[in-house]
Amino acid sequence: MDPMQDPAGTRSNPVMKLLLVEDSRRLRETLARGLRAAGFTVDAAGDGMEANGFLAAFQYDFVLLDLGLPRLSGFGVLRALPESGTRPRVLVLSARDQVGDRIAALNAGADDYLVKPFAFEEILARLHALARRPAETRADVLEHAGVLLDTRARRVSANGRPLNLTPREFALLELLLRHRGRVFPRALILERVAGSASEASDRSIEVLVFGLRRKLAEAGCEGLVENRRGAGYLIE
Ligand code: CA
Repeated sequence: MDPMQDPAGTRSNPVMKLLLVEDSRRLRETLARGLRAAGFTVDAAGDGMEANGFLAAFQYDFVLLDLGLPRLSGFGVLRALPESGTRPRVLVLSARDQVGDRIAALNAGADDYLVKPFAFEEILARLHALARRPAETRADVLEHAGVLLDTRARRVSANGRPLNLTPREFALLELLLRHRGRVFPRALILERVAGSASEASDRSIEVLVFGLRRKLAEAGCEGLVENRRGAGYLIE
């Protein structure tokens, strides 16, 4: 396909603009071709500096980001993204399958993570899932399924009944409500909620989730916090 040709406008509405950042030329060209055929408008960068140049100049709906890049790594690109506003959704691609990299990427602001090698259809499925995800909100009051969480007043209620949560339960509920639809692995919850990953353990996360679920269930909000086996916890 002619790379100058842009079939996006004819195939999907609205047009999704995507920045592809991958240093392997072959993979970059294959992905760009497939994504354009799937209806995305695609810009492609071969390293982190080039990616940041594109991101400073244009707005994107998605960034498909390799972590291991010349000049500036994918982490450098993640760090340069704005915290809020018109921030693109970031799907990280990486050959590294260590959980540490996955956690670090999610913690640095990636929305999802795919380990190489992957099927092209898997990328499309993840991008479409990200597109459906409700925009993250920085609101002071988070409301969902009968739960009302006021981050300023540090108050939570469920179905109108005040909930007495510990600080960690409050932090966990806020995290899951703020990023609805996103699965948080235990290790990431440890970092975000427990503060120090060394002091806590998987077991302590289970205890924390159990306590929060019990209090929610007592107020009639059973099943709000879901467990994705082997992946982590989320609120849909
Ligand atoms: Ca690479």
